[in-house]
Amino acid sequence: MAEVAPGIAHQSRDLPNPPKIGGFVSFSSCDYPGQLACVVFLSGCPWRCHYCHNPHLQKRETVPGVPVWAELLGWLEQRRGLLDAVVFCGGEPLAEKHLPAMLRDVKAMGFKAALHTGGAYPARLAHCLPYLDWVGFDVKTGFADYLNVTLVPRSGDPALASLQQVIGSGVAFECRTTIHPQLHDEAALLALGETLAGLGVQDYALQRFRPQGTASPLLGSQPLPAGYPSAATTAALAERFPRFCVRND
Ligand code: SF4
Repeated sequence: MAEVAPGIAHQSRDLPNPPKIGGFVSFSSCDYPGQLACVVFLSGCPWRCHYCHNPHLQKRETVPGVPVWAELLGWLEQRRGLLDAVVFCGGEPLAEKHLPAMLRDVKAMGFKAALHTGGAYPARLAHCLPYLDWVGFDVKTGFADYLNVTLVPRSGDPALASLQQVIGSGVAFECRTTIHPQLHDEAALLALGETLAGLGVQDYALQRFRPQGTASPLLGSQPLPAGYPSAATTAALAERFPRFCVRND
């Protein structure tokens, strides 16, 4: 995750409270649909999801060896015309107070900007949306049941407020839910689909739980059982959304 792109020279910087960058990937064709992007991982997340693949990014801290923002901007200068976009993910990237300014930097250079978020901080999201071209929005479960996934009481409240903001903004977005039968039975998946369709979500993906890199006693180390989710559930969800898929990664 903390990959340094070729050509980024490390420099010493003495900025007060610089962005907490936890990792960087110089090229990705799968983090922003249809766009060639680099990916900036921002440290910090207030939630503790059972299936988290990036627990090292939950704490808000700068990771040694990862370029600082000024260095990444210098690298991006050399990538104009080669990359389409910069994707910010985490952790929860909205935990980074500098994110609106970072998005503004990226847009000023002519790149598109995308965000992967669970929506934990709707007030900061409001400052980010004017600069965003696409959002990948993680919906953990039914908004009243977030505690079961994030282990944080009432975390569904800011998530719902954030999703409503994204929908109201007109920014292109996708909702996706990482699924496991211990967290989402078939009825819960159908109910969540109904909720999201009712909110106006057009693009929805279920992402099958992968045990690699997780350490959850609840979810264990086994892949999902065959037949979950059922064909009847996926068919019913597919009818609710103009675009729907089940992903294996
Ligand atoms: S919101 Fe994302 S980064 Fe935070 S604990 Fe959940 S899976 Fe991990």
